[in-house]
Amino acid sequence: MQTISNEPLNTVMLSSSPEDIEKAAEIIRNGGLVGMPTETVYGLAADALNGKAVSKIFKAKGRPGDNPLIVHVAAFEDIEKYNLVKKIPQGAKILADKYWPGPLTIIMEKSDIIPDEVSAGLDTVAVRIPSHKSAAALIRAAGTPIAAPSANLSGSPSPTTAQHVMNDMKGRIEAIIDGGECSVGVESTVITLAGEKPRLLRPGGVTLEQLREALGEVEMDDAVLHKLKDGVKAASPGMKYKHYAPKAEVVIIKGSSKAYIDYVNSHDDENTAALCWEEDIKDLKCKTLSMGKEKDQESQAHRLFDELREIDNDESIKKVFARCPSIQGIGLAVYNRLIRAAGFEVIDLEKI
Ligand code: AMP
Ligand code: MG
Repeated sequence: MQTISNEPLNTVMLSSSPEDIEKAAEIIRNGGLVGMPTETVYGLAADALNGKAVSKIFKAKGRPGDNPLIVHVAAFEDIEKYNLVKKIPQGAKILADKYWPGPLTIIMEKSDIIPDEVSAGLDTVAVRIPSHKSAAALIRAAGTPIAAPSANLSGSPSPTTAQHVMNDMKGRIEAIIDGGECSVGVESTVITLAGEKPRLLRPGGVTLEQLREALGEVEMDDAVLHKLKDGVKAASPGMKYKHYAPKAEVVIIKGSSKAYIDYVNSHDDENTAALCWEEDIKDLKCKTLSMGKEKDQESQAHRLFDELREIDNDESIKKVFARCPSIQGIGLAVYNRLIRAAGFEVIDLEKI
């Protein structure tokens, strides 16, 4: 016999009006789950100090239990107020001044108040202050820090619209706040300040160049650009999973516009699509999906996940040739997500 908790929930779509934010806050206070818009991607929100509520996130997403969650607060003072960390490092104050609220997550040594479900057994905790008005309003109204991973089923692209969340989470969560399209479109930058030197674990909207300007030396974890070697422990557990992979095979094609277009036009068939820059579309014969403009890396980040979902929506697409993003600025975040969607398959036309 099924228990009540296994029955599908009636997932309601809420607006970002103060009344609806209050409804969502009540769900959080009662230990339930809410899809929350942020400037990066939609998050799946629960009371971060309630281990039982947090464990529901893992169940709803099908997320492996060893992948820790980011804790969201509304203001810098909240880190001390809720006693989330052992000590706030000087670097966190410098970064907070420049980039919070915003798409940056800082890992610090955790205090005992953080439930094991949140930190997945690590002795650190990831903290972020989102800038999206509805996220900030929800956190304040709930009156508690909010744990929230991306609100997709594990293994699908992160959701950048409320409809994406509904497609993945209908029946699994109580409500979704519709806050429009996410402006950044890729998950937050993750930096750890819990080790000897600051280290970038995941690139995002705050760039490596900006982090280095603020802190001086910042190392880049190997997992940002490369597949983790067998047996190597991931500094950020999320990096060891094959993320965001559409059902179709995705291959990154590295080379000039002309080389890319010639390659795709001579290797396409009716089941091929090109995940390309807007400027390439007019010269390609196969189906095209635009990842934005070649020189506009913010537009690429903004569009990437929606285009990856489009690939899955079109059953006829079996193979995708993707343009290779530049790894400068926010391009590093686009490359980091795309290379995972491609299972690290890259054809370098300059080396052929
Ligand atoms: P998501 O919430 O889906 O954007 O994923 C959060 C990312 O942050 C995952 O890659 C996690 O592995 C990573 N993360 C969260 N907390 C920690 C932590 N304490 N140490 C290292 N990585 C973390
Ligand atoms: Mg995620």
